[in-house]
Amino acid sequence: MATSPDNPLDIQSSRYARQMRFPPIGKEGQRRLLASRALVVGCGALGSVIANTLARAGVGNLRLVDRDFLELNNLQRQVLYDEDDVAAGLPKAIAAKNRLAKINSQIEIEAQVIDVDNANIASLVSGVDVILDGTDNFETRFLLNDAALKFGIPWVYGGCIGADGQTMTILPGQTPCLRCLMPEGPPPPGVSPTCDTAGILAPIINVIASIQANEAIKILSGHPEAASRVLTVFELWDNNIRQLKLGGLTESVDCPACRGREFPWLEGERGSHTAVLCGRNAVQLSYPDREPISLAGLAEKLQGVGAVSHNRFLLRLAVDDYQLTVFPDGRAIIGGTEDIAQARTVYARYIGN
Ligand SMILES: [Zn+2]
Repeated sequence: MATSPDNPLDIQSSRYARQMRFPPIGKEGQRRLLASRALVVGCGALGSVIANTLARAGVGNLRLVDRDFLELNNLQRQVLYDEDDVAAGLPKAIAAKNRLAKINSQIEIEAQVIDVDNANIASLVSGVDVILDGTDNFETRFLLNDAALKFGIPWVYGGCIGADGQTMTILPGQTPCLRCLMPEGPPPPGVSPTCDTAGILAPIINVIASIQANEAIKILSGHPEAASRVLTVFELWDNNIRQLKLGGLTESVDCPACRGREFPWLEGERGSHTAVLCGRNAVQLSYPDREPISLAGLAEKLQGVGAVSHNRFLLRLAVDDYQLTVFPDGRAIIGGTEDIAQARTVYARYIGN
């Protein structure tokens, strides 16, 4: 191959030169990274750091998925975004794609503004080599776990709260999965602390997301043997790091996913389209069978009802004490309540049944 400033594998001039000098990567590892595809589910705090790192590392195709739009309180930790993105009312996936395209124009970036559910997960994971968890909830993580095991795709779990975080790499068939760790599924609502009660510090996000991105780089560059076999737990404020060995779990736990090949989240037997959003005083409502909504038409209908604005991606309505954000697929985030019934009432009143 001829060497030129545009050759990404040129050890002298490539943007990846320093990375290729790291012996486990080298030219071959970089070539594999460039030919690889990663799915980043959630483009909030963890997803921002993960996507940023993987785009700069030259992962050839990044598929970014996020259901939410930007708010000012995201900027403390969601490193891909700035005040202009918040002012423009952009969905996170779109703002992330815009930013990453300026950082690395040589890779392909896809952005999807959707809620990941059992109806769309199979197409989202189709063709990807690794799945990165940037979500903020266990419902979605168990769905990812089901999909990863069913289709044999490695995935990297990460979660943070307060100044604490944990991460674990799942290589289907080789290492324990999330259900080996939690056979009953997610902890019931109200048991675990949330961003609401515990807050969140940016440094723990950067630590956990960096480990996740590093695991992805190992897997994608052809070194799955170097992936972590432990659950890593950081309590950053107290300077505690623990690594829990998981090797014995595969034998000791009769995992319904690994051994039983049962995937209830993927089959739609567990999980929900409706969610109280972590730390947001908001409820998400989804209507998977709904016809697409014309945002311009809806904006016209809502003139005089409250303060309405819209762009290509979403419509906003502020009325009474509620802030409604409506997406073209009919999905909505109702701010101002954590009561699902109340959110449904507000949706029916302004958007329709
Ligand atoms: Zn398992």
